[in-house]
Amino acid sequence: PLGHVVVVGGGFAGLTAAKYLRDWSMGNLKVSLIEPNPQFISCPQSNLVLGGSKRMDDLSFSYALARKQHGIDWIQDSVTSVDLDHKQVRLSRGNLAYDRLVIAPGVDFNYSKIAGMSEPVPDIPHAWKAGKQTLQLRQQLESMPDGGIFVMTIPAGPYRCPPGPYERACQVAHYFKHHKPRSKVIILDANADIVSKKGLFLQSFQGAYQGIIEYHNNSEILQLDVLSKTVKTDFESVQADVFNVIPPQLAGKVAQIAGLNNVDQRWCEVDFVSYASAIAPEVHIIGDSISAGLPKSAHMATSQAKICAAAIIDLQTGQAPNPLPVFANTCYSFVDDRQAIHVANVYRYDPAKKSMVAAEGGGVSSKASVQEGEYAQAWAENIWADTLT
Ligand code: FAD
Repeated sequence: PLGHVVVVGGGFAGLTAAKYLRDWSMGNLKVSLIEPNPQFISCPQSNLVLGGSKRMDDLSFSYALARKQHGIDWIQDSVTSVDLDHKQVRLSRGNLAYDRLVIAPGVDFNYSKIAGMSEPVPDIPHAWKAGKQTLQLRQQLESMPDGGIFVMTIPAGPYRCPPGPYERACQVAHYFKHHKPRSKVIILDANADIVSKKGLFLQSFQGAYQGIIEYHNNSEILQLDVLSKTVKTDFESVQADVFNVIPPQLAGKVAQIAGLNNVDQRWCEVDFVSYASAIAPEVHIIGDSISAGLPKSAHMATSQAKICAAAIIDLQTGQAPNPLPVFANTCYSFVDDRQAIHVANVYRYDPAKKSMVAAEGGGVSSKASVQEGEYAQAWAENIWADTLT
């Protein structure tokens, strides 16, 4: 046996790491995975539930196959603290010792940064983790009268899934266009610009959704009134019928509790060759929690997981990990029920910059198409199969 790896979080990053740690070590590593949720719910495609072309059932999967096929010790629980000195994690049922720890808890939300909404408000869902809140937001859109206003606020980056809010705006506008044509989508973006697929999103905002979507950049929330669902920015005051506040984000709570979020007290610094934490070398961090300057996507999370798994096996067998990792990221966004757009890049490790750097020649669509919609569906089915079976 090569030792015991404990993985915290059964999302895209953690589950992929657990699977490949078992497979690539030929079963010689013991791998325990801790995840509180009874099933896997995919954020990718969850905006389509808001548009009405997908149901939550289409995005909800059992963990059973991944557990059984790869011999992962599954612990349905939450990690409440990490003892870095004694190499143990604490669960509600007791302590678990590790030789190496992989932390993959996704993102946490920072409400203290929102003036007027210092904590979650039950009827203002973020729906930025797919699940109950996705359904709640869809139900709010269904109950809203024609002529109503949907307001979405986007936090200053970095946040999970850079194109996600703009895909969401298109999905809600698609629903309005066909069912509530007098309604509007107002996007209040704290950022100066759309950072991903800008030209392509603007084609939709100014084309198919002209008169429905209003986009405002540099629109940081100055004050928010949760009772009247009114938000004030530098330029205006807007009242929502359906209010979708996406809060500022930081590394998942367990990374904060362990004190590993050393970049701006938000994100975790890692070595991109092994994903070892800059603070604790036997702790590896992957997925949305890391500080990377890279988009926080499911595709990135699974790519990082594979590099991390290979590196852990090398380290546990006394070898040096591959010094020059390479991976790709493709990100599709649906602009209606059938058409999608994409951006694709290859990232290579740059030893001088100690960072993953996008190679020249990445690609973006020239326009939205049904064919890309089919590719987007295939992408989703492939990543679900790779992660969950
Ligand atoms: P997660 O997938 O969130 O997994 C984290 C897991 O850790 C969770 O299961 C959680 O329960 C568990 N956990 C947390 N704390 C603990 C604890 N203390 N103990 C035990 N377990 C814990 N990406 C794409 O590539 N393509 C897309 O089209 C796309 N669309 C998106 C659309 C939306 C609306 C959103 C919100 C995101 C989208 N993303 C997309 C981004 C993608 O969902 C994330 O980047 C990805 O989920 C990150 O993976 P992760 O494993 O880091 O986090």
